[in-house]
Amino acid sequence: MVRTTATTGADKEGRIPLNPAACAHDVTELRRLVMRNGGAQYKRQCVLCGKKTTTALPHSEVPDREIPPVDEELYSRRFEEWQAFQRTQAAQWVDGVRQDADFWMRHGAHMASAKWAGLRDRVFRRAAGKCEGCGLRAPVQVHHLSHKNMGDEFLWELQAVCMDCHRRLHPDKGL
Ligand SMILES: [Zn+2]
Ligand SMILES: [Zn+2]
Ligand SMILES: [Zn+2]
Repeated sequence: MVRTTATTGADKEGRIPLNPAACAHDVTELRRLVMRNGGAQYKRQCVLCGKKTTTALPHSEVPDREIPPVDEELYSRRFEEWQAFQRTQAAQWVDGVRQDADFWMRHGAHMASAKWAGLRDRVFRRAAGKCEGCGLRAPVQVHHLSHKNMGDEFLWELQAVCMDCHRRLHPDKGL
């Protein structure tokens, strides 16, 4: 059972931050740079990461329309977004591992308790000798339909199952 919180890291607009250092610069637009001497240079700027091309476009090739100015802060904004995203991912991963460890500790303690022995008995009694999965074989284990009330389960959250049915329920556990 994987309890690690799934995360896409997408922002409000559903965009997943990209690593500006690994950008392929697939979407570029022509931008105007104002030089110290007041003259203008025209370069293509990647709208994804903010990187500018190193070479300027000859003025003769600049289209005759208003060219928007370069966004000088775009790259550092993208870089900060990327770093914040990395930090969030790392923190969520740590949280997930901690929650998993905590869950399995409580799980183990519960399985070893007298309370669990009682629940197990009542589930087997209800099953009356037949697996609640197939109705054919004898039940040998108890399966949790939900762990929501772990430690104080309702009987309907527990199923007496045979090995074959339990294996089908947890194909990844190697039961
Ligand atoms: Zn780029
Ligand atoms: Zn069965
Ligand atoms: Zn199970």
